[in-house]
This record gives sequence, structure tokens and C-alpha cells, in this order.
Amino acid sequence: MITYQNFIAGESIAAQSGKTFQNTNPANTREVVAQYPLSAREDALAAIDAAQKAAPSWAATTPPARGRILSKASQILESRKAELAELLTREEGKTLAEATGEVQRAADIFRFFGGISYTLGGQTIPHDLPGNLLFTRREPLGVVGLITPWNFPIAIPAWKLAPALLAGNTVVIKPASQAPAMTLELAKALAEAGLPKGVLNVVVGEGRTVGAELAANPAVAALSFTGSYKIGHQLHQVLSHRMARSQMEMGGKNPTIVLADADLDLAARLVTVAGFGLTGQACTATSRVIVEKSVAEAFTQKLIEKAKAIVVGNGLKQGITMGPAVNEQEFKGNLDYVDIAQKEGATLVHGGKQLAEGDLAHGYFMEPTILGNVTATMRIAQEEVFGPVIAVMPVENFDEAIAVANGVDVGLSASIVTRDIKKAMTYAERIQAGVVKINQISTGLALQAPFGGVKKSSTDSFKEQGPGAIEFYTKVKTVYLDYSA
Ligand code: NAP
Repeated sequence: MITYQNFIAGESIAAQSGKTFQNTNPANTREVVAQYPLSAREDALAAIDAAQKAAPSWAATTPPARGRILSKASQILESRKAELAELLTREEGKTLAEATGEVQRAADIFRFFGGISYTLGGQTIPHDLPGNLLFTRREPLGVVGLITPWNFPIAIPAWKLAPALLAGNTVVIKPASQAPAMTLELAKALAEAGLPKGVLNVVVGEGRTVGAELAANPAVAALSFTGSYKIGHQLHQVLSHRMARSQMEMGGKNPTIVLADADLDLAARLVTVAGFGLTGQACTATSRVIVEKSVAEAFTQKLIEKAKAIVVGNGLKQGITMGPAVNEQEFKGNLDYVDIAQKEGATLVHGGKQLAEGDLAHGYFMEPTILGNVTATMRIAQEEVFGPVIAVMPVENFDEAIAVANGVDVGLSASIVTRDIKKAMTYAERIQAGVVKINQISTGLALQAPFGGVKKSSTDSFKEQGPGAIEFYTKVKTVYLDYSA
């Protein structure tokens, strides 16, 4: 078991109350993975204070100097990839291959923002008069709060931290209690890379105390949150009340449309990866397959074949292609949704049961699950499940497919499988989503491109990822200079 502490003002320190909690491996709940401080409001206040003290000198450094630290951190993360991936798998449950990809992603994000440090600046604007200079400066906000979920425990902290730090802000981050190790490891790598004390502070503890303080405290200039709609909505109220900048990235109910002209083998492969990969615990996971009736049966058979080939188990073991649910609550929630769907008239066509034989006895394992004959008003078609459960929804035609796809109150990622370029582009125009994938999985994002949802998936005010991520973390000042006299 690893013992972690908070990381405040460059020091590892216990919660002021002395309280702790432990996390177990979701693939084997008898194994305690790590112990953490159970922090509360006073610890958040200490971290905010440290971030405030470090803010002026960090803001006075140049973007290339900050970028050098991010690039160095990228190298450190890459050199520790195998060790971090193993720890990520033990704490969160995804397979080792998935965890390795995620750690690599975090290293790449730091490399990307290290690189663009040379481009960070304002704009020169032509003035109406001669002998005048008109330009903008991009300045940090001050202390920024970050709150992250458990499902990408290193990639999401990385994609918020890298632009926040590059922009010259100091940060207090509260990782999800379910998987805080990777955020503390990121802090370690950044400190080793030369990040000054107090610039990054990590407080582990309950959302409703530590997280709530980050939203309410007037010293925190902005808050970027990724997690559920329920909490994001709550935090947004607090931030808007005090007119602080906020970025809330929340859940999805992502469709993949399969048209009658599609390559059905390709469609089944894409849906399998996007729906069952990462145990379905991705905000961009495909949870609804909207398929033209004429090919619904043939497609479903192919999807069942792919689901049967999935090997469920402890993600550290070779050959395992799907890990457990992250905890008991998520696990039970997944199974409950399978019941609810059947009660509402859906047909269970594959899976749906807990797996508890042999090695699986002490983990939160379930079969990859396919529900057929799902209709648009069923709860399984409307609510985020966040597990390996795919709803197949037969429709008459392309227009109905788009109407069904848009018939939810969220809009994160949306995929279509077709050979018809006109329909694909019409879909790209008409679908209400932040990300559109054509003949690709609904999961998986390019770190250099903007990411964010629409509708209740996001506050949709600022995008994450790509060079534009800097915008949330900076304010623009306009300078007028007259040198004509
Ligand atoms: P969650 O329950 O909303 O928690 C997210 C974070 O908020 C955690 O750090 C949590 O801390 C904290 N929190 C909880 N209650 C809080 C409160 N009252 N005040 C302040 N902070 C609070 O979400 P989750 O279960 O970790 O993550 C799954 C959700 O995230 C899904 O809906 C998924 O779709 C979404 N997600 C969205 C994206 C995206 O980019 N759009 C990406 C990944 C995941 P504790 O852990 O201590 O409770």
C-alpha cells in the first residue's frame, strides 16, 4: 500500500484533522492500493493561501520558461510510464494497455503545451492613427481551481493543468477521491521538473468540502470542472453567483448511427471499442446505437459476436480486454439499468449479468451488455449509464436517426458509420454534439483539437484541449500606445 499526502506549498502534508481513507483495487477489493488524507475545508484554505503567495512570481516568469518545465515533466512522465500505468490500473481498473495509453497521453499533453509556449502572446491591431501602437496582452487569471473525475485520472488533470500553468496561473486541484494517485504523481513529476513551490497544490478529500471551497472562495479566480451534470450544475450556480469564470464539462449519451449502406463489420468493431472499451466508463463512450431497421438484425448479430470475444478480468493480466466497474455504486448502477431497461420493454440480447467466478470473485465485473428494441423515451436511451451497456435503437431512416440522436438533453460526442459522404456531412451539420466522428469510434480525441460538449454536457463557454485551451486560463488586456509626439 502506498501512503500519499496532500501536496501544498511544495510539501507533502497530512490533512489537518489527521483523518485518512483508503482505496481498494476494483478488480480485487481485498487489495488496498493507497491511503490518502481525508482533507476538509481548512486544507483547501491552506492550499489556496499557498497558491496566492506563489502567484506573483510565477506570473512574472515568461511562457517559454514555464514551457521548459512542462516539457521536462513530459519526459519524466514518459520515463515512468510503465510504473504509472500499473498503478492507474490497480486504482481505477482499466486494462494495462488502456492505462499505458492514458499515461502516454498525459506526457504528450505536457509536451504539446511546452512546445506552444513560444507562441503564447497577444495580438497587434492596426490603429486608426499614425504613430500609434495597439496591441493585446494575454495575462494569467491568478489562482485557478481544478476539480477532476476518476475515469481519466491522469489525462484530465493533465489537460487542465498544462494550459493553466503555461498561462502563468497557480493552481489548486482536487482529484476524484476514487483515483487521486495520478494527480499526486503529476505533481511529483512537475516538482522534479522545476515547478516552484506553491504553484501547484493538490488537496485530496471530499468533493462537498474541498471542492465546494474551491468554487466558493473569492481568491479562486476561475474553476474548471469535469464530472457529472449534477455536481457541475451545482458548482456553476456558486461560480456565477460570484461572477467567477467557470468551465463545466459533464456527461454524455453518445450515439453511433449505423446506416443501411455501412460496412457492418466496421460498424460492429467501432461500436465495440467505443461502447465496451474502458468498461464503458468514458464520457464519450457510445451508449446508443441508432441503426436503420433493414440492417438492425445483421448488425446486432455482429455486435454480439464481438461482445462474446471480450475477455473480462483484472486489467493487469495479459489477454484481458475489459476491466471492472470502478466501484460498487457504479457496478450496481450498471446492473440496475439493465433491469430498468427490460422492465420498460427492451430486450436483453447479450450479457447483463455479474461475473464472479474464480479470479473474478472479488471485483466489480459484469458482462458486456447489449439491449435491443430500445426506444427513444426509455430511461436507458436518455440517462448516462457509465458502464459497458449498449442500447440498440432501430429506426426507419436517416432523418429519424438524427432526430433520435438529438432527442436527449446532452451532446458530447456523436459518431456515424456510412459510405454516403452526403449523409455523413449532413449529420456533421445537424447533430447537436461538440465532437462528430465519421467512420470512427465516438471515444478518442486528438489532444491538439478543441474538445467540449453542448447542451447539458458543458457550459460551452470555453473549449478544452488544443491551443485554444489557453483562453479559459487567460484574460486579455488591450494596450494603446501613442509614440507620434
Ligand atoms: P462527479 O461525482 O461529479 O465527481 C467529479 C468531481 O467532483 C470529483 O472530484 C468529486 O469529488 C467532485 N465533487 C463531488 N461533489 C462535489 C461537490 N458538492 N462540490 C465540489 N466538488 C464535488 O463525477 P465522477 O463520477 O467522478 O465522473 C463521472 C462523470 O464525469 C460522468 O458523468 C462523465 O460523463 C463525466 N465526464 C465528463 C468528461 C468530459 O470531458 N465531458 C470527461 C470525463 C468524465 P469526490 O470524488 O471526492 O466525490
